[in-house]
Amino acid sequence: MSLGLREILNKHNGILSGTSACPGCPENMAMRMLGMGLGKDVVLVVVAGCSSVIQGNAPYNAYNFPTVNVAFAAGPATAAGLARAYKQRGKNATVVVWAGDGGSADIGFASLSGAAERNDNILYLTVDNEAYMNSGGQRSGSTPFGAITTTTPEGKKENKKNLPLLMIAHNVPYVATASVGYPHDYIEKLKRAKQVEGFRYVHVLTPDPYGWLFDPSKTAEVAKLAVQTCYWPLFEYYNGKLNISPESLHCLDKRTRRPVRDFLSIQGRFKRLTEDQIKILEQYIDSVWEKLKSMLDNQ
Ligand code: SF4
Repeated sequence: MSLGLREILNKHNGILSGTSACPGCPENMAMRMLGMGLGKDVVLVVVAGCSSVIQGNAPYNAYNFPTVNVAFAAGPATAAGLARAYKQRGKNATVVVWAGDGGSADIGFASLSGAAERNDNILYLTVDNEAYMNSGGQRSGSTPFGAITTTTPEGKKENKKNLPLLMIAHNVPYVATASVGYPHDYIEKLKRAKQVEGFRYVHVLTPDPYGWLFDPSKTAEVAKLAVQTCYWPLFEYYNGKLNISPESLHCLDKRTRRPVRDFLSIQGRFKRLTEDQIKILEQYIDSVWEKLKSMLDNQ
């Protein structure tokens, strides 16, 4: 599917003027596309992070949705309460939690897991820039092995926590991954998620020029490279069935994967990686794809 300019302008835009995001911000791209995918009748619960700030100065708000800002661990509980209140009043609303990777993988994980286990009727989005960018670029559980952050100046020693697979393990109705480099895929997944009843989880990779150290004009290019090199698998888990998205199908065969170096070399945060460390990262990517393949084989 391709969206022309006229079609894009006719869609609900998630972002208005007045945002205070950095140039090339991937979270603004993800929010713009959220509007295109979900349309109106959306209520946002924003967990503390860059997105709390880039809305702009109160009383104005650059997010084109009714928005509630909450502390890190309060997102899912606030959203679940709102969803029940709207239902009781007979109002049609999709309640969306919008959280960064620190808010989802670390500080807010207990409440995210609880909402998933209860199958609360909310759509939870993680916008993953792989560190605590709003507070200075500290490592998070979602930071990949070898990446330099302000708290891992020699490169992170641990692998990235795989939150999408953890959410599948919660047996929720819908889990998907997306990248701001592939807007159509992301928008289609949002549309599908909107139709599902119960807990829905969408994890969007949002490459950050200032923490990943690349030119702000290259956000979409880096987001594409993450998928093309199989670093970031695009998939959908729906009705208990895993589907690899077309953009990632080539990753099922190791021989057709684009080298991960193409993704690493465009970013300053990996500049200290040795050959042995690149191999460790490659092994991690292999292990994720082995897990996905075994899930496909067993369904
Ligand atoms: S630090 Fe990154 S995610 Fe945060 S506003 Fe700037 S570009 Fe966007």
